[in-house]
Amino acid sequence: MIEINTLQEMNQWTQSKKKEGYNIGFVPTMGFLHEGHLSLIKRAQQKSDYIVMSVFVNPLQFGEGEDFQDYPRDKKRDKALAEKHGVDVFFYPRIEEMYPRPMSVSLNVHHGVDVLCGASRPGHFDGVATVVMKLFQIIQPDKAFFGMKDAQQVSVIQRMVNDFHFNIEIIPVEIIRENDGLAKSSRNVNLTISERKEAPKIYETIKKAKQLAKDKQMTSAAELELWTIEQLKVQLSGRIDYVQVLRFPDLTAIDKLEGKIILAVAVHYERARLIDNITWKQN
Ligand code: AMP
Repeated sequence: MIEINTLQEMNQWTQSKKKEGYNIGFVPTMGFLHEGHLSLIKRAQQKSDYIVMSVFVNPLQFGEGEDFQDYPRDKKRDKALAEKHGVDVFFYPRIEEMYPRPMSVSLNVHHGVDVLCGASRPGHFDGVATVVMKLFQIIQPDKAFFGMKDAQQVSVIQRMVNDFHFNIEIIPVEIIRENDGLAKSSRNVNLTISERKEAPKIYETIKKAKQLAKDKQMTSAAELELWTIEQLKVQLSGRIDYVQVLRFPDLTAIDKLEGKIILAVAVHYERARLIDNITWKQN
């Protein structure tokens, strides 16, 4: 594995591999790697000749008062894990390398961001789209791997790729969980002991909600949302940011539960905001 820190070197590496006819798989991350990230690498290995993993905590996608400073970082550990799991290029640019000057053209995501994290984190997906577009331009991958933990991100990036005619296949990868069901996240280390203890209730609850829908005990999105909110409220000390049932991947509102559905949740704790979701096909 090699480490690359500059855009120029990264692009040169890409060009040389492309000339030789190899295909490149790309795994973008903000580091502090866990098994969720490693599963993206694994999937990339099945589908690519070379794997580039980026580790970049993107300031543009953090709002004021969010945890940009507090976001956990450990380059040495990330690099060792990436190497052990078969990454070929560890792309680790500095902020000044990615944003040498304020952007003079910006991306504004305006579909599917009036809901979920887009609604509670204004501008977040503009920052995500901007950095992913930059990384796509520099790395020019054939395939890019994104976790379904950030389902809204998958949806936004797929649309961006369609809108801007990127010749890149977006591959969603299923959510990896702790043994007790909590979705793995770099932010989990910022939970207190008691928050960590109750956090698995999030997945337990949305799993039950899905089952209620599947068993036709609930047939409307509003009813399912309400039930989930009530269940979470009594079980969690964290503040519920949202509970929403939508069509997936277009993230539009639904009334009756039918077709491909997502139930997504965000909960605020003292030093971490947790998100989780479950998707299913409702017959
Ligand atoms: P992050 O470093 O949190 O920005 O995540 C980088 C990539 O890893 C994103 O595509 C995430 O959706 C994905 N990811 C994060 N946590 C998980 C998880 N528990 N399971 C699967 N993918 C994940």
